[in-house]
Amino acid sequence: MRRVNIAIDGFSSCGKSTLAKQLAHHLGYTYIDSGAMYRAVALHAMESGLVRNGALDLPGLLGVLGSLDIGFKYDDEVQRSTTWLNGRNVEGMIRGMEVSRHVTLVSPVPEVRAKLVSLQKALGAQGGVVMDGRDIGTVVFPDAEVKFYMTASTEVRARRRFLELTGRGEDVDYATVLENIRQRDEDDTRRKADPLRKAPDAIEIDNSDLSAEEQFQLALGHVARAIGEKAEA
Ligand code: C5P
Repeated sequence: MRRVNIAIDGFSSCGKSTLAKQLAHHLGYTYIDSGAMYRAVALHAMESGLVRNGALDLPGLLGVLGSLDIGFKYDDEVQRSTTWLNGRNVEGMIRGMEVSRHVTLVSPVPEVRAKLVSLQKALGAQGGVVMDGRDIGTVVFPDAEVKFYMTASTEVRARRRFLELTGRGEDVDYATVLENIRQRDEDDTRRKADPLRKAPDAIEIDNSDLSAEEQFQLALGHVARAIGEKAEA
């Protein structure tokens, strides 16, 4: 049976990756974190001095964009996929607050989006992919057999992100995390290129009051129906 693609979109820190990983693991599919690719571009811009005083040197970024090599490799030791930039494992570096603070400088740039969307489409060409992001159901896989649009209250999302960051040893305060989430929500919904939108055929899940397991079971029911319908067709 041809394996389907599953698109999961939503605001920052609303549990998209938790659900995507659970579904991928259960179905034997590949999980792809599209946000990691935008984070890798932001990291490169920061490390190359293309971000100064909170502003992006756009011509500078466009000059190096074509040569950026961004991808994923499975790490047997930690048993999960890791993000690579120009031959270097950047998984740890892209997750911190500094990259979160600068990622929406690069994510609205149409040329950045064109490059990453084309990589993402190629990754899903054979099916069997669960990808999360902001434009997966609308732009990357508009024909995905299953689409989810996830939401949760801003405070619930900020609390989860705060716990995740401090759990990894990062020294941040809750107010800073909350402000970053609010800012990225605004940046991601207001940008001109591929803004965050619910695809008309996406199933909306508000997980403010759902446990990860409840959410997984709910989503799995939808996926099973979609795969069953495809098998019958
Ligand atoms: O998902 P994550 O929070 O790691 O994404 C980081 C940023 O990357 C988002 O705030 C957004 O600006 C950008 N992004 C995007 N399109 C995607 C995935 C992420 O613009 N498909």
